[in-house]
Amino acid sequence: MSTEHQHKVVIIGTGFGGIAAALRLKAAGIDDFRLLERRAFLGGTWAQNHYPGAAVDVQSPLYSLSSEPNDWTEMFAKQAELRAYTLNIIEKHRLAECCITECEVQSLKWLADQQCWLINTTQGEFKAQFVINASGPLSQAKFPNLSGLEQFKGRCLHTNQWDDSVDLSGQRVAIIGTGASAAQLIPAVVDRVKSLDVFQRTPHWVMPRPDYVFKPWQRRLLKNAVLQKLLRAVIYLGLESRFIAFKYLPLVLKLYAEPSARRLLKRQIKTPALREAVTPNYTIGCKRIILSNTYLAALDQPQVCLHTKDDPIVQITPTGAITRAGREIELDVLICATGYQATDGSIPYDIVGEEGQSLAEAWAEYPRAYLGTTVPGFPNLFLLSGPNSGVGHTSAVFIIESQLNYVLDCLRHVDAAGLQSIEVRPECEEKYTALIHKMMTKTVWHWGGCQSWYHSVSGKVIAMFPAFTTTFWRWTRRAKLQDHQLR
Ligand code: NAP
Repeated sequence: MSTEHQHKVVIIGTGFGGIAAALRLKAAGIDDFRLLERRAFLGGTWAQNHYPGAAVDVQSPLYSLSSEPNDWTEMFAKQAELRAYTLNIIEKHRLAECCITECEVQSLKWLADQQCWLINTTQGEFKAQFVINASGPLSQAKFPNLSGLEQFKGRCLHTNQWDDSVDLSGQRVAIIGTGASAAQLIPAVVDRVKSLDVFQRTPHWVMPRPDYVFKPWQRRLLKNAVLQKLLRAVIYLGLESRFIAFKYLPLVLKLYAEPSARRLLKRQIKTPALREAVTPNYTIGCKRIILSNTYLAALDQPQVCLHTKDDPIVQITPTGAITRAGREIELDVLICATGYQATDGSIPYDIVGEEGQSLAEAWAEYPRAYLGTTVPGFPNLFLLSGPNSGVGHTSAVFIIESQLNYVLDCLRHVDAAGLQSIEVRPECEEKYTALIHKMMTKTVWHWGGCQSWYHSVSGKVIAMFPAFTTTFWRWTRRAKLQDHQLR
């Protein structure tokens, strides 16, 4: 293997996580790193997800890297602006020189004798002392198991794998799923399709999105770094306070959030049967709350037919679908808005650690990691947005940047000691995970009476962090040496 493929750090993925990691390494004076990207393009989620209507549902001034403020045109940026933001950062910091595209990681193996990772990719082998996985928790598209799909003569798409050449105008379309992706897609296409059959398994609670387009003078003001930081702080505090309801004051969910969602339902859906069909029967907040001013109204259009869990697709035919009630639906396009493998199977390649044990084996019961980042038996491996590091109420970028404080501190400890590797102690990970799941029992994600992508097959809530993000920031600010072994 050529030495040019040997690096101090390899970062897997070029989305927000990968870019943030690269910037932090550069700032720490570490230039010997590569970013491996499986796609032919850079930018991660916001380059990959370009279905009609795609936009962020966290206020953009906060949903951005703290070191890279942006001249956002609106409070909730659309996909094109988010993509441009990530690509601008890549260009500004000349990161493309360190990126290798169409380089899909197939496996990682820890070489104990060399104290480094062997990374097997579609472009050959790499070695790296440290690996930062930034492949994203929502990057492995999940498809429904539909009988007869292979015979379908129309187009079949997943929101995550959108094909811009598919024109939905005048088409007979079905959408499976009614989560955040579907809720953005449906209003964006409803006026141009001939018919739209929406297959809802479980309704989501929907709340209004406080859309706002920045005025030119406000954008000029926000070019001032202090004002931009102030706005970030105000948004951060406002969003963080929502967590109080998710964990400590469930009454707020009942007395404020649910009535607000019910009012929106009443305003936007005039047909009583439809309103009832899309009203959830679990506590608001248990599944991710959808923020939309247009989704519910789009469902109440004459060309739209909502199918509930009682009438799902049972068979795909060459020309359409048959539902459980025996209805035959002629279709040109079938769209799966069925989400992601966000917990089990979120890392799409094999990882073999110190004792020859795979990460899949270590996670046989459920995915777990100290600070959502490190796993005993897997030295020098850091998982950005790993188990129990997700947030539903604020910006995931804040969590990623907090994790990177911990990662960089680990690297500093190894270098300062003149050693090779760092690994979290098993008993510390065990204690941490036990604490996380104890704290989780108090959250609406645990007791709210729903099934969501926050749960792993074990039934445990794996996707979310069960405390304030300030707590996560505090815990990750420094790597506690006593919780780790250095070699
Ligand atoms: P999702 O929230 O997991 O929704 C998937 C939908 O498909 C659900 O309605 C689910 O029903 C349904 N479904 C899944 N498998 C099915 C099957 N086999 N048969 C029938 N229905 C099935 O996925 P998503 O909408 O892609 O969103 C995932 C997450 O991505 C969001 O929660 C959010 O964090 C992020 N996201 C964010 C934005 C944004 O605004 N920034 C936009 C899109 C996505 P059940 O509910 O019954 O499981």
